[in-house]
Parts: sequence; C-alpha cells; structure tokens
Amino acid sequence: MKARPLVMIPGPIELEPAVTEAMARPAKSHLAPSFMDAFARVLAGLRAVFEAPDAQPFVVAGSGTLAMEMAVANAVERGDRAVVVDTGYFSARMADILERHGAEVTRVSAALGAVPDLAEVERAVAEARPKVVTVTHVDTSTGVLAPVEAVARLAREHGALSIVDGVCSVGGELLRMGDWGVDLALTASQKALGAPPGLAIVVASKRAMDAWRARKTKVAAYYADFGAWLPIHEAYAAKKPAYFATPPVQLVEALDASLASLLAEGMPARVARHVRVARAFRAAWSALGLKTLPASDDVAAHTLSAVYYPPGVDASLVARVAEEGVVVAGGLHPDARTKYFRVGHMGATDASEALATVGAIERALGAPGAGVAAAQAVLGTRR
Ligand code: PMP
Repeated sequence: MKARPLVMIPGPIELEPAVTEAMARPAKSHLAPSFMDAFARVLAGLRAVFEAPDAQPFVVAGSGTLAMEMAVANAVERGDRAVVVDTGYFSARMADILERHGAEVTRVSAALGAVPDLAEVERAVAEARPKVVTVTHVDTSTGVLAPVEAVARLAREHGALSIVDGVCSVGGELLRMGDWGVDLALTASQKALGAPPGLAIVVASKRAMDAWRARKTKVAAYYADFGAWLPIHEAYAAKKPAYFATPPVQLVEALDASLASLLAEGMPARVARHVRVARAFRAAWSALGLKTLPASDDVAAHTLSAVYYPPGVDASLVARVAEEGVVVAGGLHPDARTKYFRVGHMGATDASEALATVGAIERALGAPGAGVAAAQAVLGTRR
C-alpha cells in the first residue's frame, strides 16, 4: 500500500517537487533581495499566464474568496448595479459578495449544467446598465465552462467592467485577458496554477485601474484595497523592498516555482494538454455509462469533471475510490450535492494520473476495464 494517495480533487492539487521544496525553505525576511526577485518574477509570470501584458497583478495572502472580494470591493461602490452570469455555487457566492458591498444585483441563471443564454444576458445588461458584469469561467460545483470571451465583449459594448472568476480555470483553460478585453480576472494559488492554497490573485486591466482611480468613495475593505497594495507591488516589480502587510514568503516562492514550470511548458501547450486529458476523462465516463453534469461538451470544463453516480451507487463511492488510492471529491451544488462526484484534472496532471484515477473509479464501481481502455485510446493519439 502506498503511503500517500493521489489527490485528484478540484483543488488543492498535487504539487510538483520544486514547489514542495520551496515550501520547506528556511525562514527568510519578506524584504530579502532574493524574495524581491521572486515577487518580481511572479508578477511578470502572472501577466504572461493571464495574457495581459499591460495589466496590474495583485498577490495577497488569502484564498480565492478573498480574490473575489478584492475584485468586487475595488470595482463597485454602494448603489452600483451588477449583472451576474450565474452557472452555479460560485456565481451565487459572487452575487452575495456584490450585495455585501452595496451593489444591486441581477442574476441571469441557467439550469443545472447549462450556461445562461447570451441573448438573455445581453437583455439583462441592456436593461440594468450595470457597472460590472461577472462570470465564473469554470464553476467548480458543476464543471460548467462559461463563454468568457463573449461575456467580456458584451460587457464592454455596454460600458460595463467584466469580472472573471478564474479560480478553477487560470493556468488550465484558455484565457486571453488582454485580447478578450477582460477587466478584472481573479484566481487562487491552489488550482491550475499548481501551488499550495493561500494566495489570492487579482489581475486588473488598465481600464479597471482607471475606474478604481475614479471612485467617489473609499474601498470598504481595508486589507483588500488596491490603494494599499499598489505601491507595494510597484516596488516589488522594481525589486525594491516595501511593506503594507506581511506577505507569505514561502507561498510566494512556491508560486514562483510553479509559474516557472507553467511558463516552461508554455500556455498554448498547457491548455492543449488540459483539453487532451479532459477528453480522455470524458471518453472514460461515456464508456462506463456515466452521465456528466455539463449538458454538452461545449460547456464542459477541461480542469475538472462532474459526474453523476450511476443508478444504485451513492456518495459512499468517494470513500471506496479513496481506498483504491485516489482522492476525488463529492458534489457541491446544493440542488444535486449527493448525486454526483468531481474529479480535478488540472496542473501537471497527465496520462498516468488520468489512467490511475479512472482505474480506481472502475475498481470502486466493480466494473474494471472499459473506462481505462477508452481513456487510453484518447491519450494514445497525441495530435
Ligand atoms: N471560485 C471558484 C470557481 C472556485 O472553484 C473556488 C474554490 N473552489 C472559489 C471561487 C473560492 O476559492 P477558495 O476556496 O480558495 O476561497
């Protein structure tokens, strides 16, 4: 029996050795020259990963939820209107955060596993004339992939800022923040970026920064105010020490290590690998007769799978898969929580992890064979 299971949940994900090693380094001052170097590389690396060369990245201690709150707190003022493209649990969280910051929210929702009709989103935006339009790139509760490029275009055409929750997409799905005109994109360290949990990341376009500068009221969150962090990040980018609140030194160095590996692979190759692995998982689910939550392949994420339990199987499957050496996750969406499980396939995940995971699920289902063969058929045909 192996001492350590394979962790295949939709974040936190398996770490590459260089990332684990960075976490184990001895104590270091947050003002040390080598830390300034690492931070500067992280900021440059994030601009490359988000494909947003002119944007301002912010990296602070916290999880993805803080990144959501940071984007919202800096973008909206009390009484502003917001349209939320609602694809599940994390879109609902975004709506809640917006309301807490005083926005009037219109939600455009879809059935479980679907994305809202773009014409309906456009009608809502034309009617509400919002300051911001938000979209969850990959809703981790449903495995649904939203059309970010189209939503960002639509927001821009109507004079609104777009906010993209990329917590479960950045580093795995195609996201061209600059070309697509996304204004605020956010993520966290523990998913497709391949670092441990603990860093909240927000990248703001020039337009978003201009809108922030034009605010009439103070940002209602002290720790999340761009104004507190901008001088610090500008200093770090110039490799100069500065202080507002203590950065998590080891985590930033771990992100530096994971970004190095990500950029060495290159974003196009990385996205293509995620697509290939996701297709292999989809082939396996279909060979095993398992249905997925996303209504069609067009709206299925490449960073995770959300799969219904077959008839006669319940949530105890997750524990049985763990006994087979692979950790997968249960359901999350309140409408179907006990009816499905989720498998993360992001970061460095490749053929070996995919086959090990499908194999463990097959054994736990008592139906070994067909899924692995179907996945293998996809993985064997490198394009
Ligand atoms: N948005 C999405 C799409 C997520 O998947 C998650 C985390 N699963 C979050 C936001 C919140 O991130 P965190 O759990 O790191 O606060």
